Amino acid sequence: MKERPARPHNTSQEKALEVLDRSEKVGLVHTVSNVARGIFYVCNCCGCYCQILRGINEFGIEQLVAKANYYAVVDQELCLGCGICEERCQVHACTVNEVSIIDLNKCIGCGIFVNGCPNEAVKLNVMPDAEIIHPTDNYKAWEQQRLNNRGLIK
Ligand code: SF4
Ligand code: SF4
Repeated sequence: MKERPARPHNTSQEKALEVLDRSEKVGLVHTVSNVARGIFYVCNCCGCYCQILRGINEFGIEQLVAKANYYAVVDQELCLGCGICEERCQVHACTVNEVSIIDLNKCIGCGIFVNGCPNEAVKLNVMPDAEIIHPTDNYKAWEQQRLNNRGLIK
């Protein structure tokens, strides 16, 4: 059996930012633990391997992740219909048929297509105040919330 490469446990901030830049360039979605403090992972996900994004793509569980507090907007006057955004969107929220159309039910507000658009036709807007999601303060509170949501504690 092939040995798995060791995971780097320590990295410099500069290196980590480099990885994030590279990931963004190739169209991977940054995902993080949904807590305000003490974030314990940053992952860079595609829709074919990531189990969270696959949950959305293959099982239609669109509310599986806490979406970013943004939504995608296309300026149809600027859109060239090139299809790059459709290729880059990891959750198939974007369909190009002459111009790009966003399915806001599927959009997770990741913004990964903003960098790919050759004509600056796409941007992210902030959600209205009433729809902003505020993460729990820390991991312990997050676990507590999950147990509550599942009816496992009274
Ligand atoms: S990448 Fe930009 S120009 Fe190309 S289809 Fe998408 S929105 Fe339009
Ligand atoms: S912001 Fe929405 S439409 Fe754009 S790539 Fe992310 S999920 Fe897809």
